Amino acid sequence: MVIILKSGTATTEIAELEGYLSAYDLKVQETVGEHTTILGLVGDTLSVDMDTLLSFPCVEDVRRIQEPYKAANRKFHPEPTVVDIAPGVSIGGGAFAVIAGPCSVESEEQIIEVAEAVKASGATLLRGGAFKPRTSPYAFQGMRAHGLELLLKAREATGLPIVTEIMSADHLPLFKEVDVIQVGARNMQNFELLKVLGKQEKPILLKRGLANTIEEWLMSAEYIMAGGNHNIILCERGIRTFETATRNTLDLSAIPVLREKTHLPVIVDPSHATGVRKYVDPLSVAAVAAGADGLIIEVHNNPQKALCDGPQSLTPAQFDTTMKKITKMREFVATELNA
Ligand code: PEP
Ligand code: MN
Repeated sequence: MVIILKSGTATTEIAELEGYLSAYDLKVQETVGEHTTILGLVGDTLSVDMDTLLSFPCVEDVRRIQEPYKAANRKFHPEPTVVDIAPGVSIGGGAFAVIAGPCSVESEEQIIEVAEAVKASGATLLRGGAFKPRTSPYAFQGMRAHGLELLLKAREATGLPIVTEIMSADHLPLFKEVDVIQVGARNMQNFELLKVLGKQEKPILLKRGLANTIEEWLMSAEYIMAGGNHNIILCERGIRTFETATRNTLDLSAIPVLREKTHLPVIVDPSHATGVRKYVDPLSVAAVAAGADGLIIEVHNNPQKALCDGPQSLTPAQFDTTMKKITKMREFVATELNA
């Protein structure tokens, strides 16, 4: 971190600032230029608050040299993280996974029928919301604890590990049997929830917030990792922009950017990113071409009757077609693109 001082700063002011910094385990290197004096802070500056430094009258500017996240930073962990979910099911470091299923669990018949269909097409995990974050309090809120029981039945019937969203830390005891806990876009910065999830061992699918930068997203991963849980899968699910043709705008550039900045696996959700069924297929293929470690795709056995997100849900037959293209693109990426 570098602190740039205002010109004409008195030595007493510099001493006051250095006195404040002495509380940290840092070396302060002073460089006196013709017009500007800068203080270089050498050491672990993660807990140094930039705003506090800026509040000193003699400080002109403060710049971070190192990213504010460490556990998630690829610089300190060059090897890709592989998140192991179940025997034979992993994500990251070359292990690719497709998570598929309905937006919400609606009945035992529905979740088992969809689970069997997506498994037959090659999905490796089953998704299904039991606790739903809906914009309207009058909309279907999910089957809650009963929905989790139905997901377990679908896992028993198909062997597919299950992924489902948590909305409150109070519900964690209900998630004992769940394989991957999803943190939805709306909770990406629910820091108290992230801290609780950091204290347990289950893999976390951390979706990008609706209007969050990549750095904010990585800081949320850092919250979980700081608690001790390093099993995190990042999920790009589209961000809010001025565009209205799609529900959100899929930020595919997040894949190569994250690849450089972090060792955590990155998957893409083309369903929530577009909100439109016919765009899910091309963007699934594009995400694979851009290097995603996996996909999460909404599939419903009767989208017209879905209680949530029907317009963006693929039918099992459409999912089957998309899976075939995903497989082809994966082969192409492995044998031609990255050969
Ligand atoms: C979901 O996966 O059903 C969901 C609500 O997604 P998001 O948090 O990305 O909106
Ligand atoms: Mn949904």
